[in-house]
Amino acid sequence: MKSAFDSWRRRIIGFTSGLVVLLTLWCGLAAAQSQPDQSELNDVHFHLTNYIQEGTDIHDFLKIMGTKVGRVALFGIPLQQEWSYQNSGDFAPTYYLQTDAPLYYYSFTDAYIAMAYRSLSKEQRARFDPMITGFNPADMYAADHIRRVLETFPGVFSGIGEFTIHKEFVSAKVAGETASLQNPALDRILDFAEKVGLVVLIHNDMDVPFAKEGSQPVYLDQMKALFRRHPNTTIIWAHTGMGRVVRPIKNHAAQLAEILADPRFSHVYFDISWDEVAKYVLSSPEATRTTADLLNRYPDRFLFGTDEVAPSNQEKYLKVYYQYEPLWKLLDEKTSEKVRKGNYERLFDEARGKVRAWEMAKGLTF
Ligand SMILES: [Zn+2]
Repeated sequence: MKSAFDSWRRRIIGFTSGLVVLLTLWCGLAAAQSQPDQSELNDVHFHLTNYIQEGTDIHDFLKIMGTKVGRVALFGIPLQQEWSYQNSGDFAPTYYLQTDAPLYYYSFTDAYIAMAYRSLSKEQRARFDPMITGFNPADMYAADHIRRVLETFPGVFSGIGEFTIHKEFVSAKVAGETASLQNPALDRILDFAEKVGLVVLIHNDMDVPFAKEGSQPVYLDQMKALFRRHPNTTIIWAHTGMGRVVRPIKNHAAQLAEILADPRFSHVYFDISWDEVAKYVLSSPEATRTTADLLNRYPDRFLFGTDEVAPSNQEKYLKVYYQYEPLWKLLDEKTSEKVRKGNYERLFDEARGKVRAWEMAKGLTF
């Protein structure tokens, strides 16, 4: 008797949560449709605040987006640059290259972003997908922080990131244990993201700075192993693994093509954000052509992002977008639309629906 009752109960719960997912998806889509139709792009990579947790007021930022930008993945920066008087005296550093003092994880960023989002009207909120970043990816408790943020601010977040494992000049400056792709703490984070349906935006240099031409990128195999361990987590690899001096070795496009062609990595996407990436893509007509060919071949797997930090006007905010003009011209119409807008909408509409359903199933209200 008990087991028959249980199975009915399970069915009813299953049906109800299915209904909730559908309703939430529908609401998400309806909200997304209320965005200005004339928008040209969505931005998958935007930092509202900088390395000392200062930035643009979100209401001013909405004006900067104007009607040109539809939706934005919104986050701060999880690392705070310490102002060490011993190190730089009265000079107050605002960037990690301006002092030898360490960076440390600043978890309050998530509360700050959530409150900024909540200060908006319902229509304005529909244009943002806030992301959780304030966790230490080398800490086995990091996944618990992410859960706590969702429980404290239900109805807000769609994903996690941009968070960083290997990054030139940055990783070595972070106080405490250095993050690693092989750390089970990272597996706990990606497992939890899968369970909830959070989109993952991860920065990880494919190689070390100034690598020897022709050598195997140091972190590529580790990254692939990580992807294989988490086949059901939606992962966006920020900047396609490039850095400022992590040079795109001649066959960078070939390395990406190998991942894109492999069905085991169908859950992996790339963002082409950052002016440093644009610099390489536009370094020669050949480089631009090679990139365009790859995007045209895999139109569903790339997303545009700015990687701007606390911009003060639209010109500065969209610098990278305009920089990419020669690339946009080489994309076929459908690919261009997907990279600028469609892929973002697909991934984040799905994430919104799943995360809201997870929150509702936990009895959280928003
Ligand atoms: Zn990055």
